[in-house]
Amino acid sequence: MSQTTLTQLEQQQDFVRRHIGPGASETSQMLETVGATSLDDLIQQTVPASIRLPQPLAIGASQTEADALASLKNIAAKNIVNRSFIGMGYYDTHTPNVILRNVLENPGWYTAYTPYQPEIAQGRLQALLNFQQMTLDLTGMDLASASLLDEGTAAAEAMTLAKRMSKNKKSNLFFIADDVHPQTINVVQTRAEMFGFDTIVAKAADVAEQDVFGALLQYPGTTGEVQDISALIAAVQDKKGIVAVAADLMSLILLKSPGEMGADVVLGSAQRFGVPMGYGGPHAAFFATRDAYKRSLPGRIIGVSQDTRGRPALRMALQTREQHIRREKANSNICTAQVLLANMASFYAVYHGPEGLKTIASRIHRFTDILAKGLTSKGLTLAYKQYFDTLTVKVGESKNTIVEAALKAGLNLRSDLDGVIGISLDETTTRADILALFGVILGAEHGLDIEQLDNQLVADGSDSIPAELVRTSDILTHEVFNSYHSETEMLRYIKSLENKDLALNHSMISLGSCTMKLNATAEMIPVTWPEFGKLHPFAPMQQAQGYKAMIDELGEWLINITGYDNISMQPNSGAQGEYAGLIAIRKYHESRGDAHRNICLIPSSAHGTNPASAQMVDYKVVVVNCDKNGNVDMADLKTKAAEMADNLACIMITYPSTHGVYEETISEICDIVHQHGGQVYLDGANMNAQVGLTSPGLIGSDVSHLNLHKTFCIPHGGGGPGVGPIGVKAHLAPFLPDHNVLGVDASTKGNGAVSSAPWGSASILPISYMYIKMMGGKGLKKATEMAILNANYIAKKLSGHYPVLYKGRNDRVAHECIIDLRPLKESSGVTEMDVAKRLNDYGFHAPTMSFPVAGTLMIEPTESEAKAELDRFIEAMLCIREEIAKVESGEWDALDNPLHNAPHTLADICDSEWNHSYDRQLAAYPVASVAKNKFWPTVNRIDDVFGDRNLICSCPSVDTYRD
Ligand SMILES: *Cc1c(COP(=O)(O)O)cnc(C)c1O
Repeated sequence: MSQTTLTQLEQQQDFVRRHIGPGASETSQMLETVGATSLDDLIQQTVPASIRLPQPLAIGASQTEADALASLKNIAAKNIVNRSFIGMGYYDTHTPNVILRNVLENPGWYTAYTPYQPEIAQGRLQALLNFQQMTLDLTGMDLASASLLDEGTAAAEAMTLAKRMSKNKKSNLFFIADDVHPQTINVVQTRAEMFGFDTIVAKAADVAEQDVFGALLQYPGTTGEVQDISALIAAVQDKKGIVAVAADLMSLILLKSPGEMGADVVLGSAQRFGVPMGYGGPHAAFFATRDAYKRSLPGRIIGVSQDTRGRPALRMALQTREQHIRREKANSNICTAQVLLANMASFYAVYHGPEGLKTIASRIHRFTDILAKGLTSKGLTLAYKQYFDTLTVKVGESKNTIVEAALKAGLNLRSDLDGVIGISLDETTTRADILALFGVILGAEHGLDIEQLDNQLVADGSDSIPAELVRTSDILTHEVFNSYHSETEMLRYIKSLENKDLALNHSMISLGSCTMKLNATAEMIPVTWPEFGKLHPFAPMQQAQGYKAMIDELGEWLINITGYDNISMQPNSGAQGEYAGLIAIRKYHESRGDAHRNICLIPSSAHGTNPASAQMVDYKVVVVNCDKNGNVDMADLKTKAAEMADNLACIMITYPSTHGVYEETISEICDIVHQHGGQVYLDGANMNAQVGLTSPGLIGSDVSHLNLHKTFCIPHGGGGPGVGPIGVKAHLAPFLPDHNVLGVDASTKGNGAVSSAPWGSASILPISYMYIKMMGGKGLKKATEMAILNANYIAKKLSGHYPVLYKGRNDRVAHECIIDLRPLKESSGVTEMDVAKRLNDYGFHAPTMSFPVAGTLMIEPTESEAKAELDRFIEAMLCIREEIAKVESGEWDALDNPLHNAPHTLADICDSEWNHSYDRQLAAYPVASVAKNKFWPTVNRIDDVFGDRNLICSCPSVDTYRD
């Protein structure tokens, strides 16, 4: 027997080998194809020497899956999971197990991309439409979106909507009721400061005296108080102000809806509909408004349209409102939202249905009544007699004693308000919890009995929800919420939707700029550990030492990878990171007496979120041209930077450029901007081409966001969640986000928050943690190199057939490549859309379409795709090229060809008549390999224009689906 050493055997168990698609022999074949002698040789040809890292990453060796899981489990064990009664917008919940396993833990749901290709995304679009319907029913509004990032940012979006839509154009004042959750106030005030709006925080009742463009109320209040707010709403509207109401979804099951009370916007968090607290996130926020404000709605809306067969079909509606089209004029900068979590919440509503939800809400409320009765029977006073699930109890001097006793008993109470404690109950509350609460508040000898209190309540009745605030309107009457209440039915419903969607568990999704790499199972497993899932974001720090250790270590690694000095994990998407980074830049200028600097240079090729974020800090966008090679036009940059030097705030630039090229001039660009007093914001979306080879810090930039949901393996979730931490150089560190409930870092005190939770979407950070731990420094660098090899391999193989735009030095691309379809469109009439849809017939998701250049496709294979998969994709693209040739030559009719008619559905193939000039087999099985694993789009091409003209954003009646 050959003598392999133990070390060699252990190396063969390396995770790196599993994360990276091509093995050693494929790698050599691919290197040969691209004409490089080794990986090193390819990298030297591709990445400019001037920006290469002089030393390897200071990240340890890779760990096996088993070892990394074991060590993270030890860290997680440092978290103390108390029973949480803190409330403040976060509540414990039972994630129905059928949803936990079949959605949250299922790659069919979590690895999907944002539904930009709706024909292969009808499943999650349906789940999101259900989310919108649920939002409409519970809020009593006309129109809802398909999730925002969290309650605080949703409230901030409501403020900006109010500013846009209010007819009170004179007022610059936004009113915030003092019983809004404190973290929401913090997020809204940060946003107001950036926009230059004035805010006032005062008793809700005082709103009538103010002249405001908008107001934010909370219902029920953060103290639990339930009051009729219709008169307050009317008073603001009388003076042409817009009223937004932050509401609790669970309470709305029993309470009169804010819509019925006249609200203009209703928003809040859908967390307690089955989504774990997760130390603050991710959760979906809901947002609903009047039909009249539909063009002003932030974020994504799902709408009903029809396909070419006239069948109902879903897609994202009114996309022209959004950042990728409207840029600095967009309603918001939101790109990645919270799709996976919105889907979970909507499935929760589907599973429980209206009756099940009423039972859950009523039980919570009954427990609250029992708790109230017990406490008041012993002489304690409630600050508010009307409540749903939260009591504010006057305890005066004994507050600290009670809070301490509770902690000893493993119970977290709300303790941030003077002389009172807050107690919020939830779906998981039990009789034992109530007795434990009596015990710590009243002493062990309280003598109270739950049954007795309950019977007393039955006899006396309860007026904690006054008659005029009891909901009388129906909820969730649509069939979808009344059909799947057994686990078998629910399991099949979830599966039926999953089957409509193409995700990474079917084939590669080569989305340029989005880095759809492997989301390894070992990375996902810790997300649903209770040690991470069950923590309330405002739990005392000593209970969150596991989180602290994990976040600190991950932060150190990311600092090393980016070459920055400090990092903030708070932003919960890339676009939020941009916003947070620009705030840091603005505050830095202000601190130096340069508050007038307000010009943000942005190359014309930038992602839409860049200009949209610049607008959010009140910066003026000045576009810098790109030359015909896709690089920043240096002459134009120099002129503009010099011209605007007095007011230059920053440049926002992406590296490698959005054109997929390592610009040689990047350091010079940084120098020019610095010379003229500006800061450099480097958009980190393309970090997958940097990690281990170069870094933003080395290149000379001052601040970047990372998209952990791109480069660092957090799955896209079908359109979210994301995490967008920002790294900064030391001079910007004092201007990172802070948090008013739990300060995040002494040096940043008072900067304000950009997200509701101090560490944003903390519960998915273990994914990136595991990735880095299992890859180690060398593995991470190898991943970058292989991503570059894979992209160059595709570019090389396609280049004889399609023009590859924008090559860098030595004709190399970075980690993605753009192929130009415009010449073919000219000669054949076949569009990039036709090619994208035809790829569905071949079993692939289309690459990024028409970004950064209209009429092109941007392909990013990532390091995780094996050569066999790349070859399958290349084969599809080459076959499609031949099909285009048949249209070019006139062999196929310009309107009746498989490209124009793509995607083909089973319905097409099963039609009794087939009147096309090509046959059924070519339509559905264009190459032999497709037959092995055929993916059927469930609808034909969808008519966007029809859908926008006839906007329907709620669930259509079931009859619509019958032929
Ligand atoms: C994805 C992306 C963003 C925005 O990130 P989100 O997480 O979707 O908000 C910004 N810039 C570029 C270049 C991107 O690719």
